[in-house]
Amino acid sequence: MPAIETAHANYKSKRPLSAAADVEARQVMPGGNTRSVLHFDPFPFRVVAANGPHLTDIDGHTYVDLLGNYTAGLLGHSPAPIQRAVSAALETGFAMGATHTVEIEAATLMANRFPSIEQVRFTNSGTEANLMAIGVAMHHTGRRRVIVFENGYHGGVLSFAQRGSALNVPHDFAVLPFNDVEAVRAAFVDSEIACVLVEPMQGSGGCRIADDGFLEQLRKLCDESGALLIFDEVMTSRLSPGGAQQLLGVTPDMTTLGKYLAGGLTFGAFGGRADILQAFDPQSGGELSQAGTFNNNILSMSAVVATLTEVLTDDLILTVNERGDRLRESLNSIFASARADMRATGIGSLMVIHARDEVMELFFHAMIDEGWYLARRGFIALSVDITDELIDGFLAAVRSWVTNSD
Ligand code: PMP
Repeated sequence: MPAIETAHANYKSKRPLSAAADVEARQVMPGGNTRSVLHFDPFPFRVVAANGPHLTDIDGHTYVDLLGNYTAGLLGHSPAPIQRAVSAALETGFAMGATHTVEIEAATLMANRFPSIEQVRFTNSGTEANLMAIGVAMHHTGRRRVIVFENGYHGGVLSFAQRGSALNVPHDFAVLPFNDVEAVRAAFVDSEIACVLVEPMQGSGGCRIADDGFLEQLRKLCDESGALLIFDEVMTSRLSPGGAQQLLGVTPDMTTLGKYLAGGLTFGAFGGRADILQAFDPQSGGELSQAGTFNNNILSMSAVVATLTEVLTDDLILTVNERGDRLRESLNSIFASARADMRATGIGSLMVIHARDEVMELFFHAMIDEGWYLARRGFIALSVDITDELIDGFLAAVRSWVTNSD
């Protein structure tokens, strides 16, 4: 039996309950899920409990969660301050249908934290935040064209892997190669550019780092033409207390956020220069209105406040990113000394292990078998609960696998 079939058979034999749940799930959800990225072959295990750094599946296996809910799980599972904040909100009422004061606190924390954000508005997801930011840029500039980058991911309807998706919203996109300043310069010959939407480091696209000067050039080209520069920091805002924009020293006009900032609850936000966001202020003559039943939902807003005031100190952010740097560098030295055709890229707590597809499938299943959960495509997003000891344990498992497989 080829190695991949053996790995799948081994996985399957240990998970009869997840196998049965997969059959049941497929009856009512196409593909057995409602979040396509969670699928892997032969079927994903079904989780019943999540605590700290651990996941437990219905078959009784426990995994160390290195995936960290694709960055939304930075705080680890079921963090006590978030539980307390959410419980308190449940006590006081959780469907206000009115403004409240917690959203002011949450917005103030965002504005104090991220250099580009003077004002902010909330959404339910990162996807929605990006949709809103693009619309605001089109309104602000009176232009229609939107520059994005190949392999960029800004949400389920803004996905530029393989240059696009049938599900993408029908904006006038120019999809350019990431890190190609000349291509961007050429696109700017067309004065119809409303905005450039870019991840300071591509996340889903493989933790691909912007070359030195690339983001600065985008800033310059936007300034020269009057287009807006939008950083999608849904993933990268965790790379320093003030996000990748602070770490890399480039300030966009607008920033989009999501993921971990509500401690694992539903969240999205777009913010930026007050003169741009004023478009939402009817008292200043603003013409835009942003609806959204759950935009200021008090569970998420309370969780944001708890995340930023009780959990994510600057020191903790620095620590988790330093741990990530150590993990990535150690992985690369293991791969190099074993002459394995594998490589880890990324910054701080975000990284991707790259390998040929068949190698990745075997590696992924070997790690699952040893109790280490990462994304099938090699993505890792450390949570604050992944200790140095756990990192050493993972490195030992990787070292043993790469030295024993060829
Ligand atoms: N932007 C980036 C950079 C992302 O990684 C994601 C989600 N992976 C999104 C936007 C979309 O966020 P959400 O899933 O909350 O809609």
